[in-house]
Amino acid sequence: MRIPDRTGVVLGYRVWRVIPGKWVAPSESLYAQTCHRAWSLTEPTVAYCPPRVQGDPGKPLVRSSPCEAAPSFGCTCGLYARYEPVQETHRLPYVVGSVLAWGQVIHHEDRSFFRAEKALPVAFVRPRGGGGAFPRLSEDKLFRIADLLGAEVVEDSEELRVHSEMEASKW
Ligand SMILES: [Zn+2]
Repeated sequence: MRIPDRTGVVLGYRVWRVIPGKWVAPSESLYAQTCHRAWSLTEPTVAYCPPRVQGDPGKPLVRSSPCEAAPSFGCTCGLYARYEPVQETHRLPYVVGSVLAWGQVIHHEDRSFFRAEKALPVAFVRPRGGGGAFPRLSEDKLFRIADLLGAEVVEDSEELRVHSEMEASKW
């Protein structure tokens, strides 16, 4: 897919993890799929580069200091999203949705995703059946998250695309 040269926003699609339960505030309940960091529900989430230690046995420590600005080339930091709607089914606590992204954006066209500096969730696909330990609580939490973000909850990936493209076109 050819990404048009736009100075404005980039529309992307991704997966989050919802932290269920009343014991975690909604504002701390929308996580990246794999890392322990909550997305903001009140303002754009801003990428940061976590200090990390390369832990592969038998390999030298690669790097432990973060990039000055995330995302940067030669690193893996940034807010990830795909160019195309996520088609795979995800069960709670994982949810599929869309983001508007801007700022520094690094495109990985061959691998069909980008890494952005700032992003704001636009819409989520209503979960179909729950997995995880607390599907009911995860679903309740997702609706509260969407409410706080002013994000739409849509029925499927096609509706997600239509709604998200409409939102992106307003920018
Ligand atoms: Zn980095």
